[in-house]
Amino acid sequence: MKHRQTIGPVVKRKLCTGCGTCAGVCPREAITMAVKKGRYVPQLDKSCCNRCGLCHDACPGHGVDFEGLSDALFGDIPEDTAVGRYLGCYVGHAMDRGVRYNSASGGIVSSLLIFALQEGLIDGALVTRMRRDDPLKPEPFIARTREEILSAAGSKYCPVATNTVIQEILDSDDRIAVVGLPCHIQGIRKAEQCIPKLAKQIRYRISLACSLNFSFRGTERFLENLGIAPDSVEVFQYRGRGWPGSVLIRRTDGTQRVVPYAECYRQLGPYSLRRCTLCSDMLGELSDLTCGDAWVPQIIRTNEAGSSFVVSRTVEAEELLEDAASSDAVELSELALENLLASQGHALFKKRKLKARMRLFKLAGRSVPVYRQKLLAPIRADYISTMKLYAARYTLAGNHRLLRRLFHLVHRRKRRLAKVEAQPVETMAQP
Ligand SMILES: Cc1cc2nc3c(=O)[nH]c(=O)nc-3n(C[C@H](O)[C@H](O)[C@H](O)COP(=O)(O)OP(=O)(O)OC[C@H]3O[C@@H](n4cnc5c(N)ncnc54)[C@H](O)[C@@H]3O)c2cc1C
Repeated sequence: MKHRQTIGPVVKRKLCTGCGTCAGVCPREAITMAVKKGRYVPQLDKSCCNRCGLCHDACPGHGVDFEGLSDALFGDIPEDTAVGRYLGCYVGHAMDRGVRYNSASGGIVSSLLIFALQEGLIDGALVTRMRRDDPLKPEPFIARTREEILSAAGSKYCPVATNTVIQEILDSDDRIAVVGLPCHIQGIRKAEQCIPKLAKQIRYRISLACSLNFSFRGTERFLENLGIAPDSVEVFQYRGRGWPGSVLIRRTDGTQRVVPYAECYRQLGPYSLRRCTLCSDMLGELSDLTCGDAWVPQIIRTNEAGSSFVVSRTVEAEELLEDAASSDAVELSELALENLLASQGHALFKKRKLKARMRLFKLAGRSVPVYRQKLLAPIRADYISTMKLYAARYTLAGNHRLLRRLFHLVHRRKRRLAKVEAQPVETMAQP
């Protein structure tokens, strides 16, 4: 057999997304995912590897041919730069009030999975819950009951190696719905191109919208700021409890803290994963359908229980949505694409800022992923914001106590001045 590329160079060039596809497709189980510096990194056991090249071919880290994949999968190259291919755009929520209240936004993802399971459209769904024995670490698994799907509801703002479960899917003949971030779905689609059996088994690919994800160190620092030792945590939920929800932390001594979601998200900010800052795909353009937070102004005004937006891209997804709505599993109404885009500014910004980021990376001699896809020309502000982003990441998320203190000092002063100038100010509840 001809020796081919492995995942090694992708990791070395810091292009790995940590999605777990390489570990999931390796027929020799030569790859495992280990946590290093707060993120998942593949570990290759060279003694088991025969350099078949599958891990590299299926890896979305070094690049994605969006145009080629769109053409092969959907029969065309999408015209809309921000959204990609779409058939419908909706806003809605689960009809079950408990599901809606305990999910990330509107509970659409969990409701669709439960509906598909009950209707016999799938045998299981690849979802992610937090581990019982290590509540700050996620556990992707195949849910086969309503209860299991609900145990995984809510967003996890930490690395998740979802696609490690591919091997378990291949070991069965089950029909599966996969839920993941855009990088997971890119990995799934690339893996399907390499392994036809996988393509036959995966019935729905549901992407969550994602502008960024965060390292485990972010969650650890968040707990540290609350004065909570990570090893005293028994239950950790990033989201749930209505809109936009809250973080729930239960300790082994029975005490619990609830912190507004927005405060947690603000604190996680500097811990964004480096590879996420080089991603072009906020809306999971290779999915069958994408769900995200409905930040649409007309909706959030009256939205205490939560709503999600949905973009459907395939006929199968459209049918699933139609059937779930007519069976009263979900409520959906049409959402104009321009209203969605106005509420999800990052989708277009990503396409524009990315070129600026890539140019700066190349100038610094760093590797960047190769995307075959239309990107927009950056403006000067994109270069400035890029430099600010990396400076903040370096100062706040690195091990530079002095720099961090200085940053907070300057920011506290800036915030104080802004408060005096802006009247009235809406302050966020502090934990
Ligand atoms: C890291 C991250 C960033 C996000 N960024 C945005 C954004 O910028 N804009 C936006 O509109 N929406 C964003 N979302 C999506 C949003 O938070 C909700 O997940 C989405 O609206 C679906 O809500 P729901 O109530 O329908 O899903 P639920 O019914 O709560 O179901 C969520 C499903 O997603 C799975 N899941 C959760 N987290 C992960 C993860 N990290 N990796 C793989 N699977 C996971 C769960 O297992 C569950 O099956 C983000 C989500 C995550 C995890």
